[in-house]
Amino acid sequence: MIKIGLTGGIGSGKSTISNFLKENGIKVVDADKISREVLNIYPEINKRIRSEFGAEVFLNEETLNRKMLGNIIFKDAEKKKSFENIIIPYIIKEIRERIDLLEKEKEKIIVLDAPTLMENKLNEEMDYNITVWVDRETQIERVMERDKSSRGEVISRIDSQMSLDKKKELSDFTIDNRGEVEDTLKQVKKVLRVIKEMGK
Ligand code: ATP
Repeated sequence: MIKIGLTGGIGSGKSTISNFLKENGIKVVDADKISREVLNIYPEINKRIRSEFGAEVFLNEETLNRKMLGNIIFKDAEKKKSFENIIIPYIIKEIRERIDLLEKEKEKIIVLDAPTLMENKLNEEMDYNITVWVDRETQIERVMERDKSSRGEVISRIDSQMSLDKKKELSDFTIDNRGEVEDTLKQVKKVLRVIKEMGK
């Protein structure tokens, strides 16, 4: 099975591409979705978050107030680190299990859509890695429009991530998503053709 990592920055176009891939029958493992699901699969995560961050980051006994926790860790690098130390091992374990399952089901090609593919070194477990790239200004404008956020908020979120240029450097392929979606999807089809030709 060929494993492809798909990454990018906030609002660079990962979902646009992974939706297209899913519509075309390619199985996509969605790391963002898994990062929410692990909270239900492994109740011990919430217990550890409660002991580290207190009951105030919970809406009730079992529901984490993701927004409040997000605001806390966004402003405090140390707290961000301790949250990640709790949750990331579960996310990675779950991602690996789902990929293994797809391999057992004899899928020929799968995509792992993960915003922090490189930060978590999951790119090293893939056969090929693709970065969805846009220039900074386009990225800022698209996220402001989508999230109804201020320019300053968007910039600080972008700057808290590994840069798109660095991700591009670590990738085998780059999809330039500055233009029309149609043009982006043409590039995706081409990259898939090349990967299928090259094989594992
Ligand atoms: P995040 O990681 O923040 O969830 P993402 O990388 O999945 O973002 P998308 O949600 O696919 O990015 O795209 C961000 C926004 O930009 C969306 O509102 C989307 O509709 C829009 N967008 C994506 N690609 C294009 C394009 N080529 N032209 C115009 N708008 C686009």
